[in-house]
Amino acid sequence: MSELKLFNSLTRQLETFTPVHDGEARVYTCGPTVYNYPHIGNMRAYVFADTLGRVLSYKGYKLTHVINITDVGHLTDDADAGEDKMEKMAAEKAQSIWDIAKHYTQAYWEDIKALNIRQPAHWSIATEYVPAMIAYAESIADKHCYELESGLYFDTSTVANYGALARAKTEDGEGRIEEVEGKRHAADFAIWRKTPAGETRQMEWDSPWGKGAPGWHLECSVMSEALLGLPFDIHTGGIDHREIHHPNEIAQNQARCGSDHSGAQFWMHNNFLIERSGKMSKSSGEFLRVQLLIDKGFHPLAYRLMCLQAHYRSELEFSWEGLQAAFVRLKRMVMAVSNLKTRHADAQTRHADTQPRHAELVSASIVPHKPMVEADTWTLKQVQGDGSGAQGDVAEVIRASVNDFDTAIADDLNTAIAITALETLISLKKIDVAEQCAAIAEMDNVLGLNLMTLTRTDLRVRPKAAVITDAEIETALLLRKDARAAKDFAKSDAIRDDLIAKGVEVMDGDPLGWDWKLDI
Ligand code: AMP
Ligand code: ZN
Repeated sequence: MSELKLFNSLTRQLETFTPVHDGEARVYTCGPTVYNYPHIGNMRAYVFADTLGRVLSYKGYKLTHVINITDVGHLTDDADAGEDKMEKMAAEKAQSIWDIAKHYTQAYWEDIKALNIRQPAHWSIATEYVPAMIAYAESIADKHCYELESGLYFDTSTVANYGALARAKTEDGEGRIEEVEGKRHAADFAIWRKTPAGETRQMEWDSPWGKGAPGWHLECSVMSEALLGLPFDIHTGGIDHREIHHPNEIAQNQARCGSDHSGAQFWMHNNFLIERSGKMSKSSGEFLRVQLLIDKGFHPLAYRLMCLQAHYRSELEFSWEGLQAAFVRLKRMVMAVSNLKTRHADAQTRHADTQPRHAELVSASIVPHKPMVEADTWTLKQVQGDGSGAQGDVAEVIRASVNDFDTAIADDLNTAIAITALETLISLKKIDVAEQCAAIAEMDNVLGLNLMTLTRTDLRVRPKAAVITDAEIETALLLRKDARAAKDFAKSDAIRDDLIAKGVEVMDGDPLGWDWKLDI
């Protein structure tokens, strides 16, 4: 297997992954601020983090992944003068913040499930860590912080190379941070925000600096240390976090450890999903959510595939045409794998008197809502060699595809190339179909497309705007079949035209029979 190389934003270089703790990989991912639904750009960040986690599992590391839920402290802009996003939304909707947080956390988790993102070991909820945040702030306050009327501020000049991750200067910081009166340096940031005198916030806690709420940057430093220990292996987030949020976390980690260590060996960032018109936003026009894709008849895993077709460090432009192309590609893969599974089942039936080649259970699944690999599953041990000398059983062509896949994925998660290796493997003919399915299952475990369990029918997603039921379509198709048998082509064409008008694609000669026409 190839050595895993990952791009470290700290050094702006590819580096070999060497774990802090032997055989383990500890990963922290900045999670969503649950004041609104996530857009599909946000979800790209979690598809990336999930793929990274899957790759680490595939490479044999025991993965501990933490994703946080920010339910307090994230301001409407990166300046400490902004409003708390959660407070703002709660006021707009005249609801309690706790209800807002619950609703949008649930919505986020639905998207996580739809995109087949594995459950992390911990979902750390920021409000559950407030006492730990206060204790943490107290531990660094004397040497690194100063108090102003509005809160406790971190003095960025007290740590070495502040902002090195962003490659920005501390002092002018390219005007990145607005001034708060009394701040010693433009880049200094609040780690505790006091509730202004005379005001009450829905979320506020007592602290040595008065009633208030923790700063967003503090939250991630505290939760990552609490659940993973310092230093841990990899910290991930969207590319925007490279500029302010992560440099601030690093500054806190340095203060906490009394060293120059950033707290994580690797800082990794996914690039943005953008719309043709520019940055993706939650307020612009048609708000792009996973549910919107489903409503239009797309299977959410088509979006996962769309993400994986691009390198995570490249900007990716969203278009409905691009999503449709990914969906067609996914359908092709699912159909081809279904055929292979049928061939494998047939072969097993033919050899029923011999011991069926039941594979060991690949125990990679940590997803409670849907097993990644079903019980009757496949193993690739023999393909990669398990020391038993069994490699000789495996076709050279399968090994070549597996090697191509492994080389691609180990090269800073080059999923685009890895997918082509998987497709080559799927298309191989005249080889041991059990071995072929085992190798496909292993690759799919890394890509998370559920190829071993999805059926073509699962991909027939009913659009929200559909005006006809599945049962009505089936009935119409039976009538059409009768009309054709009776050579009543006028009637058969009329039924077909009616179905087309209702957004149904009739597919003669295809075992599926019909599909929804995508409205893009
Ligand atoms: P937020 O809920 O705003 O804190 O964002 C959640 C995650 O999504 C963060 O890691 C962001 O960096 C990331 N993110 C925000 N917008 C995009 C985008 N358009 N494309 C990819 N990632 C994004
Ligand atoms: Zn964070």
